[in-house]
Amino acid sequence: MHTQNQDESALWFIFFNNQIVLEKRMGKLSIPSGSQPPFIHETHLRYTVGKWGETICYALSLTEALEETTDYLMKDLRESHADLQPEQFQMAGKASEILYWHRTSRFCPACGTPMEQFTDIMKRCPNCKHEMYPTVSAAVLVLIRKKESILLVHAHNFKKPFKSLVAGFLETGESLEECVKREVLEETGLEIGNITYFGSQPWPFPNNIMIGFTADYVKGEITLQEEELSSGDFYTKDHLPELPRNISLSRKMIDWWIKEEEKKVRL
Ligand SMILES: [Zn+2]
Repeated sequence: MHTQNQDESALWFIFFNNQIVLEKRMGKLSIPSGSQPPFIHETHLRYTVGKWGETICYALSLTEALEETTDYLMKDLRESHADLQPEQFQMAGKASEILYWHRTSRFCPACGTPMEQFTDIMKRCPNCKHEMYPTVSAAVLVLIRKKESILLVHAHNFKKPFKSLVAGFLETGESLEECVKREVLEETGLEIGNITYFGSQPWPFPNNIMIGFTADYVKGEITLQEEELSSGDFYTKDHLPELPRNISLSRKMIDWWIKEEEKKVRL
């Protein structure tokens, strides 16, 4: 929601659901740029996402998927990770989250009146004044160490056969550390301690933030929560199963742990 100067160049994050439009340029794929969005009627609603250096970034939604042309193609947002610089991928994720928010906040959840856009990231109900901001759902990840091994699990909702860290959503009224303890106990039956913050990552599928922690095994036998997990065990660095791809914070945490283990071996 921004009036744009005619010659101002912009980056265009254009989506159809979770597919993003990429421009083919000199053998590479990149985010389309220019003063106007490519192939879209000027009156199409655009949303401001932020700035890339000095360049303004907009998000746009297509009403149908784009057929591949000599200049453009559509790619799943996750797959575009391989084509974009990390900061640009993060901006694409933000654009996707903003569009998701617009799609899912059209009516006031309190009284049902159509919402009015107030700022780029705030809508207000003209009837009851209820305000809405883009929602972020927090989820924790936990790397549990037990001597020279870590716990890796396979959840039913993983699309591929890899194993990763225990994860779960933060509940209302819960601290992140309580969430870590609860999820680990519920999903694996293990008690843990020494819960330490590692790092976080926006995860725009569709609107999460992943918050990573490391912890140490204290006691208990692995008892998997079968509705969530299909397998899980402690693995040493030389006998790791298939791991998640490097787009994810879980993989960054596992790679960090492998390096830490390798340092120990060298000492
Ligand atoms: Zn209302």
